[in-house]
Amino acid sequence: MEPTARWATEDMILVENLEHAYGDFKAVDGISFSVKKGEIFSFLGPNGAGKSTAINVLITLLPLQKGKAMIAGYDVTRNPQQVRESIGIVFQDITLDREMTVWEMLEFHGRLYNMPVKERRERIGELLKLVQLESKRDEFAKKLSGGMKRRLEIARGLMTRPLVLFLDEPTIGLDPQTRMRMWEYIKGVNREGTTIFLTTHYMDEADQLSDRISIIDHGKIVVTGTSWELKNTLGHDVIYLETDNNVRAQTLLENFPAIRAIKPKTKGFNLIVTEDGTKVLPGIIDHLRAAQIEITTINLKKPSMDDVFVFYTGKEIRDEDQTPARARFMLSGRR
Ligand code: ADP
Ligand code: MG
Repeated sequence: MEPTARWATEDMILVENLEHAYGDFKAVDGISFSVKKGEIFSFLGPNGAGKSTAINVLITLLPLQKGKAMIAGYDVTRNPQQVRESIGIVFQDITLDREMTVWEMLEFHGRLYNMPVKERRERIGELLKLVQLESKRDEFAKKLSGGMKRRLEIARGLMTRPLVLFLDEPTIGLDPQTRMRMWEYIKGVNREGTTIFLTTHYMDEADQLSDRISIIDHGKIVVTGTSWELKNTLGHDVIYLETDNNVRAQTLLENFPAIRAIKPKTKGFNLIVTEDGTKVLPGIIDHLRAAQIEITTINLKKPSMDDVFVFYTGKEIRDEDQTPARARFMLSGRR
């Protein structure tokens, strides 16, 4: 056995050049990032980006093939046991044992981790309050709604007071309202002092929940920053235009001053501009008018997380591509 070496670091998660391949296929292709104590950090990326693979290496479920990963100061390869003791996990697919009540599930989990009875009971009380399932303590897990099941899973992940909570797509398949309430619970958990690492394909989830975000695509991190930083590095404003000849209009604007990027949309196109949009817009209108192009729609806004995502990955995420078959089945089966 290798000796336990805890590294002196402020980083709760430290990852350097991490790779993980299935056969010849590199699902995670050399990622590096760090998560500070107390942060909520997100991986934002489409289906197949490598999010679950990366999480599974960090939680010691998959072997680390290449690179370095430290959780709470422990090396995932050398000290997997200490890593496991430092973390809580909520998987992408619901894993509740449905023949147990809410209380029994938490009690069982506490026993599994050898928590003393007094501590166990206290913690269950605290957690049921935190995720607002006190009135459901004697309900069978299978009777809970999708949102409640997720909350119960989060409570279970927190039983052992982990330093870091890993949430793989915590709101996948939930309706928008339930998702927003989940964010409040996750923020509550974070206020309790837990560092949170989550993966998501929802732009608004990454945007509103995280302190910092890494956009991940094809196993690589394409950019990392706060929501504000990402939107600001993109540009000053986004101008949306629809014209009677979008193709020609885009060509005409290709080298226009202050336009950093042009992104085609279904009926028009976005211009990402590096200066105040209200100042740039008149020149753009004049330029198109001079070429006899008629503008039918103009819209000026600040860059959104969608704009950031499209800029860095060259694509939009459509939700129907994201929800795994199992989650879809669960949704349609619920009444
Ligand atoms: P995400 O969680 O971002 O959707 P995953 O990490 O699940 O991405 O998958 C990343 C890529 O690795 C995908 O192309 C997926 O098909 C592939 N993959 C995932 N798990 C396995 C596996 N056990 N064997 C082979 N390929 C896999
Ligand atoms: Mg996944």
